Amino acid sequence: MKVYNTLTRRKEEFVPLVPGKVSMYVCGPTVYNLIHIGNARPMIVFDTARRYMEHKGYEVNYVSNFTDVDDKIIKKAIEEGVSAEEISQRYIAECKKDMAGMNVKPATTHPLATQEIDGMIDMISTLIEKGYAYAAEDGTVYFRTRKFQEYGKLSHKNLDDLRGGNRSLLVSGEDQKEDPLDFVLWKPKKEGEPSWPSPWCDGRPGWHIECSVMSKKYLGEEIDIHAGGEDLIFPHHENEIAQSECCNGKIFARYWLHNAFLNIDNRKMSKSLGNFFTVREISEKYDLQVLRFFMLSAHYRSPLNFSAELMEASKNGLERIVNAVSNLKFLEENAGAAEMTAVEKEEASKLEEYVQKFDEAMDDDFNTADAISVIFELVKFANTAVSGQSSKEFAQAVRSQIISLSDILGLIVEKEEEMLDSDIEALIGERQAARKAKNFARADEIRDLLLEKGIVLKDTREGVKWERA
Ligand code: AMP
Ligand code: ZN
Repeated sequence: MKVYNTLTRRKEEFVPLVPGKVSMYVCGPTVYNLIHIGNARPMIVFDTARRYMEHKGYEVNYVSNFTDVDDKIIKKAIEEGVSAEEISQRYIAECKKDMAGMNVKPATTHPLATQEIDGMIDMISTLIEKGYAYAAEDGTVYFRTRKFQEYGKLSHKNLDDLRGGNRSLLVSGEDQKEDPLDFVLWKPKKEGEPSWPSPWCDGRPGWHIECSVMSKKYLGEEIDIHAGGEDLIFPHHENEIAQSECCNGKIFARYWLHNAFLNIDNRKMSKSLGNFFTVREISEKYDLQVLRFFMLSAHYRSPLNFSAELMEASKNGLERIVNAVSNLKFLEENAGAAEMTAVEKEEASKLEEYVQKFDEAMDDDFNTADAISVIFELVKFANTAVSGQSSKEFAQAVRSQIISLSDILGLIVEKEEEMLDSDIEALIGERQAARKAKNFARADEIRDLLLEKGIVLKDTREGVKWERA
């Protein structure tokens, strides 16, 4: 398997630190609002990378944080007159609902910045002891950027260029910095803000330190993959590298993966520009599986432009797969012969070729666009090779192959089975008989069973009526 590493700007063979295991950290959202579909892109593409690695047999330890202390959260809390914690808890819960809708698996661990303050204070203290950080008079702690010789290695920026371009970094309130390039590790509290005691002042951590600390705590000092959107390369990930490598004396992460932007009208979708759709808004119009399909229809390193046309095309594309699967299911259930004929066995052996092509696409830096094309080829094969004359075994083999490849991408292509009208009527008949026999327990049981399947019963003067909820 090859992955593109932002650090080396090359596709490299992926070799994990521990054979069979992958440690992976993905920077998560700041929780002060519903997430937009730009934020959903890293969630979906790196969840897919995880699923593929799991399919290959790796045990993946996947950590993704929620940034639950931040200026924007505090601002929102003040606006609403509630605590910052209430805001972050609310939007973490909403984010988890959106993730479930998009079929993004929960991380192995979802750490929260506010629960890891001790670890941050420890790391900052070590950095001060080693001379990589200093506390200014007002209690702000800064990282001494120039002391880390390799600063800029991820974003391929040169310290002197940065210095030229970044004079404006010396903003008010940060005038105690030794150098404009230095960045904040800990800052003093302001009135009304959440704060924690520390050796330097009551205050709160800078943003970058949280990921260095959580990655170390849950995955170790050296990890396999660190990922996020490409806007995080500089300064966030560059600063994480500086903090972690100076503190631990080890390589922080071996492979750096970054997704390109989700754009709208060719501009980055973002909260600050106001040009966004929340995942929740999209879910009112489409099944979120369509959104997932849309995201995976492009390579994760290519910019993707959101449009109504592309969403419609994704809806149709996904439907083609879903329809093929339900067609195969019908053929399977109504097949005359149970077992494959010799000719069918020959045909079925071709299924392996599709799996190989799919794996080749995914082994090439998670090329989901090509992987989806392979699923379409398989659908085409199904539509021509399987017919009313096919055996049950053959139809089933083709169907399960489409389902399992889709499943690796996290795409659900099996329709939930609806109960047939005739089955519903039969159960209602049984319930009436049970009632007559005064077996009310059984009658209630049948009512509940139907309710579970979304069938609501109504006792009317004309008898029992039913409808699908
Ligand atoms: P934030 O809450 O802004 O820190 O973003 C959370 C994650 O979403 C980060 O990995 C960002 O890089 C990513 N992200 C934000 N906007 C976009 C976008 N328009 N396209 C792709 N990724 C994005
Ligand atoms: Zn991060």
